[in-house]
Amino acid sequence: MIADRMVTYVQQSSLIRAMFEEGKRLASIHGAENVYDFSLGNPNVAAPAEVNETAIQILQEELSTMVHGYMNNSGYDDVRGKIAESLNKRFGTEFGPHNILMTVGAAGGLNVIFKTLLNPEDEVITFAPYFGEYRAYTANYDGKLVVVSPNTETFQPNLTEFAAKITPKTKAVIINSPNNPTGVVYSEETIMALSAILLEKQDEFGTDIYLISDEPYRELVYDGVEVPYLPNYYDNTIVGYSFSKSLSLPGERIGYLVLPDTLSDAQNIIAAANVANRILGFVNAPSLFQRVVSRCLDVDIAPNIAKYNANRELLYTNLLSYGYECIKPEGAFYLFVKSPIADDIAFCQMAKKYNLLIVPGTSFGCPGFVRIAYCVSHDTAKNALPAFKKVMEEVKAL
Ligand code: PLP
Repeated sequence: MIADRMVTYVQQSSLIRAMFEEGKRLASIHGAENVYDFSLGNPNVAAPAEVNETAIQILQEELSTMVHGYMNNSGYDDVRGKIAESLNKRFGTEFGPHNILMTVGAAGGLNVIFKTLLNPEDEVITFAPYFGEYRAYTANYDGKLVVVSPNTETFQPNLTEFAAKITPKTKAVIINSPNNPTGVVYSEETIMALSAILLEKQDEFGTDIYLISDEPYRELVYDGVEVPYLPNYYDNTIVGYSFSKSLSLPGERIGYLVLPDTLSDAQNIIAAANVANRILGFVNAPSLFQRVVSRCLDVDIAPNIAKYNANRELLYTNLLSYGYECIKPEGAFYLFVKSPIADDIAFCQMAKKYNLLIVPGTSFGCPGFVRIAYCVSHDTAKNALPAFKKVMEEVKAL
């Protein structure tokens, strides 16, 4: 018999994954080119050539050395040093290698930090719509996810409700900007207001509230939008970064946590996160790709962003012309569209009849909307337009 809590997870197992499987099934029946799969945030744009070249070069250079060996649980010192240096250059910070912990993607990093911070019943606040896995990641350590309801006009955080939901049990707040699933970027003004609330509540309750910035989409922004670097606004910030999206490496499982010296109890947090990485069974982040990313920190990803942007413009403009409602995303590669019928799950089923795979907003704690992951080929985006039009016509005829 499996563990009781796994029964629930298996039952609730992500609708997104179910869609992914459905995509493969439909492709086997209709041919892959006739299935428009917008269900997963799996970049269709290839990793920059430098990434693959660097991997090959490292393997050739280091055949006789320890490229495949164990290392410190935090990762290679030189890799962490290069990442710290790069962040310092970009954001004016003063991190050293000891502030960086290499992780198994953002997912690994978030599990490490929750394991490090949470006692049973500790609360973690997030803003809907949110990346659905946060629920499982907090529950893994017997924490409680507290959700602030969405502002469906702007999808900016509802700060009044946020302030009201902070309690003495609030251990952490997790935010994600550029956001999955809305593509919204939180402005500097928002970050300053959010930080001010956190400072006030820390004082009021005499607690430490850690702000976790989950930012796998940091570089994927359009029209020159700026994404504030949170450690520069709030001392108790921990950053979770991933190369899954920026370098199109989701299967390689590589990312890092930034654990600044300004954190309350920084030394213990750094030491505990190192141990958490080991005892969760990650042991260390993948060795080869630690080395690869450390040499690819300055690779130009503008050509890849331009490809996402072409899909963003095409879909946004055409969907609006068919009668869909949606805010224009400023970052990431998702459109969060108002479901033309109230039931978003039923709408996704309707869309499937046209071989269109999209994900209900319910999966992100925001019913009444659907997510379109436009990290697909431009041909897929173009060829899917008639299908989006036809579903809307079907809705209008209801
Ligand atoms: N956080 C958010 C907001 C995401 O969208 C994703 C992946 O889609 C992750 C974390 C997990 O990313 P990784 O592949 O680095 O584990």
